[in-house]
Amino acid sequence: MHEHHHDPIDGDIVAPPPKIPVPEHVAEAIRTLIRWTGDDPDREGLLDTPQRVARAWKEYCAGYGEDPAHHLSRVFEEVGGYDEIVLLKDIPFQSHCEHHMAPITGKASIAYLPRNHVVGISKLARVLHAFARRLQVQERLTAEVADCIWNHLHPVGVAVVIEAQHGCMTGRGVRTPGVGMVTSRMMGVFREDERSRAEVLKLMGY
Ligand SMILES: [Zn+2]
Repeated sequence: MHEHHHDPIDGDIVAPPPKIPVPEHVAEAIRTLIRWTGDDPDREGLLDTPQRVARAWKEYCAGYGEDPAHHLSRVFEEVGGYDEIVLLKDIPFQSHCEHHMAPITGKASIAYLPRNHVVGISKLARVLHAFARRLQVQERLTAEVADCIWNHLHPVGVAVVIEAQHGCMTGRGVRTPGVGMVTSRMMGVFREDERSRAEVLKLMGY
């Protein structure tokens, strides 16, 4: 939450930079959460848990410190006349849902049809992880990955299909383990041309 300050000199409302909490405050918050569950944060097995959880969340959300588009900045122009689909299939990933901060685990297939340059294939996975390591909803994750490739690689088409399980569904609420959610985003030729879309989906195994 950002506080707003009234500047007495020119009267402008300015927002200060967001306050990053210090690690001790994060640990205290996790102790509170442990108490909230009904357990005792001072029992032996839980003593180091708050610090561990704080470190773990820095990793789960490392994507905030990354510019996903940066991974697409190094392109190769010489593709030897290759004008077919480039696909990275079934990339495993983990994210966390922004509604419950529960894990989202799944796999993504990312494809594009190059116009005149390509990127190193591992870069597609890096773009995915840079967006996944944030608090997310699956629909937005799917769209962000596709948009990033579309806007920075300027391909003829982009197709992203994500299949994932949500901890907030399997572990609480309706408790339906094994149910996966599928989201997709098709752009360019994969959106406009039914045959191209069918081709990419078949390559992805759908
Ligand atoms: Zn959720």
